[in-house]
Amino acid sequence: MICHPVTAEEWLAKITHIGKQVRETVEQEAQGVTIRLATITCACRWKRGIMNMYQCLYCNEWLCELCAERHFGKTRKQYREEHPVDYGAINAERAALSQQEGEKR
Ligand SMILES: [Zn+2]
Ligand SMILES: [Zn+2]
Repeated sequence: MICHPVTAEEWLAKITHIGKQVRETVEQEAQGVTIRLATITCACRWKRGIMNMYQCLYCNEWLCELCAERHFGKTRKQYREEHPVDYGAINAERAALSQQEGEKR
């Protein structure tokens, strides 16, 4: 489901879907289901644990990882390629910190 609905029909679909997701959480809460066991159903019908779902900051919809990649505009692989983790710098910083800690002792 797209983030920003355009037509009245799209808006209605969006609001209805998010309303259902909220109801799912309310029902599970009433049953005493803990957050780690609670589930939410994505618009693609995939029911996932809430810990594996992603909520959009802008439209409040909960999305599975596959729909989230589409919704947020890039795959995790694309993001990682654009923002590679600099392990060299992390290791150097860690080594420096360990050395400082060693000096304190
Ligand atoms: Zn959104
Ligand atoms: Zn999905």
